[in-house]
Amino acid sequence: MTDLPEFSNEPILELRRASVRAGLADALAAVDETLPLEVPAMIGGEVTPGSASFESSDPGEPSRVVARAARATEDDARAAVAIASRAAPGWAAIGAEARAQALLGAAEWLRARRLELAALEVRECAKPWPEADGDVCEAIDFLEYYARAAVALEAGRTLLQVPGERNELRYVPRGVVAVISPWNFPLAIPCGMTAAALATGNAVVLKPAEQSPACALRLVQALRAGGVPPEAISLLPGFGEVGAALVHDPGVHTIAFTGSLPVGLEIVRAAAEVAPGQRHLKRVVAELGGKNCVIVASDADLDEAVPAIVSSAFVYAGQKCSAAARVLVDEAIADALIERVAGAVRVLVVGQASSLGTDVPPVIEEAAAERVNGYAEMAERDGRIVARGGEAADGGLPEAGWFCPPIVAADLAGDSPVLREEVFGPLLTIERVRDVDAALEVLDGLPFALTGGLFARDPAVIRKVRERTPVGNLYVNRGITGAMVGRQPFGGNRLSGTGTKAGGPDYLLHFVEPRAVTENTMRHGLVV
Ligand code: NAD
Repeated sequence: MTDLPEFSNEPILELRRASVRAGLADALAAVDETLPLEVPAMIGGEVTPGSASFESSDPGEPSRVVARAARATEDDARAAVAIASRAAPGWAAIGAEARAQALLGAAEWLRARRLELAALEVRECAKPWPEADGDVCEAIDFLEYYARAAVALEAGRTLLQVPGERNELRYVPRGVVAVISPWNFPLAIPCGMTAAALATGNAVVLKPAEQSPACALRLVQALRAGGVPPEAISLLPGFGEVGAALVHDPGVHTIAFTGSLPVGLEIVRAAAEVAPGQRHLKRVVAELGGKNCVIVASDADLDEAVPAIVSSAFVYAGQKCSAAARVLVDEAIADALIERVAGAVRVLVVGQASSLGTDVPPVIEEAAAERVNGYAEMAERDGRIVARGGEAADGGLPEAGWFCPPIVAADLAGDSPVLREEVFGPLLTIERVRDVDAALEVLDGLPFALTGGLFARDPAVIRKVRERTPVGNLYVNRGITGAMVGRQPFGGNRLSGTGTKAGGPDYLLHFVEPRAVTENTMRHGLVV
């Protein structure tokens, strides 16, 4: 490991090159040939089609079935945890260096299939190409970053030493980790949580989102191909009840969850129960929703602010936990900002994720489209719609698929749910505020604190917002999405999560237990 180069981010594809674009088209055609993919349950060495199944489909063309997956049961969850419990000590014993090699092997497996994996994300989750490619790169980054970090962590920390005493602080794996993931980063998020758990010597049972089982299958194949023993990484495709069974299982030590606040709260509550015979407290690592605000000060450069706000709000149809949801603009420049954002949104192209000209792809499923449309109606009732984008050249939205037009609403009543609840779709609100202090008061009143943004030139204003913002990730004079592993450790505070920082130097600590050993080295004779 010592001869490994320092970590650096996987370079994204040069989509402007015609040869790269041709490669994407070929990859998509090749993936289409293989659909629907069969996704089994993989419980240790057993690969089973399951007695019941479910399907994932293309959000842009719901009649296209992307995967037919085994629907894992609560019994499967119990079996997978039992296998993981038996495998964990052996996986821990091989040491961080050997585990890192397996993760690096998985990274290589993903790298060799980059285009195919991106194409699968285009189909299963309607991720536009740049987003799909970014997600594959981020998955590779997590594997590379945590592999190195775990080796460094295994060496322990330096403590004060005094004569006659040797002190050491080491970190040991917690045991079995249940990873429960969402669909919106269908490879990177399950990969990040799983890689961190495995790198630190835990065995994992992965329950991916029901919307993206095929992407999760590829992740588990990559890890096994890299050298992670099947017993240390099981895959349980399925719905919430399988996740809940894992959370309740007394054999699980850590639950790494990324998803919505209501489910996160349920998990925190359930994990607090100690079952008869259970000899540990479960730890919940939770990364939850957001209501992310961008503050625009009176001296902001609108040439910079407008495109950054529009892309933060509407890339991937607003379905990133980091997406911009509310703009709080100084009233002195509010009219100019609203006019320019509205103009930019009216010309956004709503279309299929597979088309490189698309700005706003469909949302993930019918229920999501209904939710977003419901909030759009509320926004119209509680304020005014200043822009509705996505009219195709020939008028209207694409017919099949869960397409929602990008919408900008302004002047909403202060008590509108649209201002407080996570919409998770292409809907942005703009509010006028007296000044940056008034904007900070709004932020302070919000339960969520995930990402936030500021556009300002005055260094004193920038300093004030840096000091007073409650959010986990603040971005100044740039877009508020696109955190990079190793550069922007990511995760929210307050009800947005347990303060974890994925892709950062402290993240692995959630998956280990510290052990301090003090030895009296004043020997009074040695028994051989
Ligand atoms: P979700 O909460 O509906 O589902 C997430 C996962 O939890 C899925 O695998 C689901 O099957 C499982 N689940 C559902 N009910 C469960 C239960 N009772 N017990 C255990 N598991 C259960 O979220 P989603 O729709 O997949 O993802 C969108 C949400 O995720 C948004 O709120 C978004 O903000 C959040 N998110 C947060 C981050 C972050 O880093 N903070 C990143 C991505 C997404």
